[in-house]
Amino acid sequence: TTQKLKGQVALVTGASSGIGAGVAKALAAEGAKVVVNYASSLKGAQHTVDEIKAAGGEAIAIKADVSNEAEVLSMFKEMYDTFGTIDILVNNAGLQKDAKFVDMTLDEWNTVLGINLTGQFLCAREAAKEFIRRGVVPERSKAAGKIICMSSVHEIIPWAGHVNYAASKGGVMLLMKSIAQELAQYKIRVNSIAPGAIKTPINNEAWETPEAEKKLLKLIPYNRVGETSDIGAAAVWLASDESDYVHGITLIVDGGMTLYPGFQDNG
Ligand code: NAD
Repeated sequence: TTQKLKGQVALVTGASSGIGAGVAKALAAEGAKVVVNYASSLKGAQHTVDEIKAAGGEAIAIKADVSNEAEVLSMFKEMYDTFGTIDILVNNAGLQKDAKFVDMTLDEWNTVLGINLTGQFLCAREAAKEFIRRGVVPERSKAAGKIICMSSVHEIIPWAGHVNYAASKGGVMLLMKSIAQELAQYKIRVNSIAPGAIKTPINNEAWETPEAEKKLLKLIPYNRVGETSDIGAAAVWLASDESDYVHGITLIVDGGMTLYPGFQDNG
């Protein structure tokens, strides 16, 4: 079988663990050369790189805090020095700093907005500059570039106790759509993925014990917690020419979490 992303360069932010690591491996398996970005865990990033190489792929790790403009610029420079260009950006880096609304500190608010929203702005802006400069390379893709934003079902579902996080993902939704509207003329495709509950370190307390998992499954009609490979498969599709006419959407990958399952037995 031919690889769907052969020869393309992909940057995955926050790829030292969880969904980012899963997406990096999935893109690499389809032939993309992957930049594994990490903020602090070189060990995690190196593990992702090693797994990609063991499977016959190509990858390097680059450190950068996505909320820091100077670090983002130097990450893009290092990527261009190594791989020459970029074809796919997966804006995945994100975190939670949970607190009751009235107890939430400005620092908790700013940290989450800075990484989850401003970080996506900075990386998308740098990628878009290169996509516009270089244009379409027909041997690689029909599009001049693809941007995939990692949103969440919390761009739709309000989340008490996580107001900063939900606000950041709501922001990602209209960041993504507005970029999509503005960049379509350059043949740059921009979309989001909204994962439901995926097994990663960000939410391990929600699924690590059988009792917690049972409670979580009440929110998931399809009755299983998601895996990072579920998101990897969605990212490959959005990055590939198979989705060439898909632009400005949020692909929800949530086992039905957004179907208001509380109404299921309320007939
Ligand atoms: P995770 O904690 O395993 O991974 C988050 C990654 O982001 C880590 O690699 C972390 O190092 C990185 N990161 C944090 N701050 C950073 C910074 N300043 N610069 C660069 N990287 C930074 O969690 P995850 O579940 O894999 O989360 C990945 C993305 O998926 C996040 O945007 C999250 O909001 C989103 N998401 C996750 C779920 C889920 O159920 N796991 C659901 C919806 C959305």
